[in-house]
Amino acid sequence: MHVMVLGAGLSGVTTAWYLQQAGFRVSVVDRQPEAARETSFANGGQISISHPEPWANPGAPGLILRWLGRDDAPLKFRPTRDPAQWLWGARFLIECLPARAHRNTRAIAALATWSGRQLRALRARLDLDYDQLESGILHLFYSAAEFADAPARARALAAFGIEAQVCSRDACLAIEPALAAQSAALAGGLYAPQDESGDACRFSRALAEHVAEQGAQMHWSSAIERLTVGDDGGVTGVEVRTPAGELRTLQADACVLCLGSYGPRLAAALGERLPIYPVKGYSITAPVLDPARAPSVSLTDESRRIVCSRLGDRLRIAGTAELNGFDTVVRPERIAGILEWAQSRFPGAIDSGRAEHWAGLRPATPGNVPLIGRSRTRGLWLNTGHGTLGWTLACGSAAALAELMCGRRPAVDFPFLDGG
Ligand SMILES: Cc1cc2nc3c(=O)[nH]c(=O)nc-3n(C[C@H](O)[C@H](O)[C@H](O)COP(=O)(O)OP(=O)(O)OC[C@H]3O[C@@H](n4cnc5c(N)ncnc54)[C@H](O)[C@@H]3O)c2cc1C
Repeated sequence: MHVMVLGAGLSGVTTAWYLQQAGFRVSVVDRQPEAARETSFANGGQISISHPEPWANPGAPGLILRWLGRDDAPLKFRPTRDPAQWLWGARFLIECLPARAHRNTRAIAALATWSGRQLRALRARLDLDYDQLESGILHLFYSAAEFADAPARARALAAFGIEAQVCSRDACLAIEPALAAQSAALAGGLYAPQDESGDACRFSRALAEHVAEQGAQMHWSSAIERLTVGDDGGVTGVEVRTPAGELRTLQADACVLCLGSYGPRLAAALGERLPIYPVKGYSITAPVLDPARAPSVSLTDESRRIVCSRLGDRLRIAGTAELNGFDTVVRPERIAGILEWAQSRFPGAIDSGRAEHWAGLRPATPGNVPLIGRSRTRGLWLNTGHGTLGWTLACGSAAALAELMCGRRPAVDFPFLDGG
């Protein structure tokens, strides 16, 4: 059976790999000339199993109201005329209800835990080099009130089988000595030793090479214009536009949609209503000037909603969320907030003048639970909508999809789609 994977970001490349391992003949289609040129290019680098809580939680509406009008707001709503944006926003509010938020957190925690195991197994099998570090993630709290919730959060994670240790300020400094430069305001932390970090783009490109070596046909620079459908209404492939402007039809027995924020537009032509909307985020990647001053343990500043990962001799710092349509413009005021964070928390650590600035669109569902499984349209499968956790969930989601396409139920408690 020939399966065509649509999109070569984290979701698409991992899907292609796990489908090959399950015995499918695979091809990959992407409008870019190589893998991971869009959202998977410069994310926060965290394999963050210890952060399954979605943005849509009972505390979110209050925070969003408090941050309204602030240029440096971690979560910002910029209204557009797109009805899809308003519909997504309304659904986001529904997912903030306590029962919904708990259900979503549980599903994400289960998939994240499984995904961590899949990633380790993949690494044991392939010699992948992507600046990975297996030194955990340290969540930092810069207010006593926020830190007061840390024990409850550790207990909630433990209920999902995820280890997290509550740390005093001194314990945080022992885990990451670079924090000592500006530790006066640090209230404490939560350390998740099983978490990891690494460069998602390098990982995707290295895995894409293995996928190609194993015989997959890679259709680069091929922009999908539409999904093609047979007389029985089932998907038969795609129509792509080549760089020369020609239209070509590519056929397959089944397709997997991994097109990030752009998937819903193509799927809508088949009557599929996918609740995915872009949530924009920013990152900087800067050369490390002084390794002793730059953190090597991956950090999440819970007070500022900023994450930071050491990628070899570079530091990646990412954050912010804007509901702003499909705009990918890098706004200087958003980058300024991230740079200010780096300079104030880790003075002298990085060369800010040589930092690369980036913005990407997280393909987010309102509850941050990805869409994995069979769509309503015959021959169309989904592995998309991973929102804030596409790197964390990549291997597990793809391995699960391969199981589902083989007719097996993956060994993870998650609401997979079954075409209903
Ligand atoms: C600032 C930021 C920080 C983040 N930090 C983290 C983190 O620390 N940890 C974590 O787990 N997650 C993180 N994420 C989330 C993660 O990066 C995403 O969930 C993930 O990259 C999404 O991967 P994807 O493959 O679904 O989408 P993409 O990477 O966008 O891939 C979609 C692919 O489809 C292709 N495509 C789209 N339309 C077409 C078309 N018409 N024809 C052909 N090809 C098409 C694109 O070229 C692209 O290659 C972060 C995201 C952002 C923005």
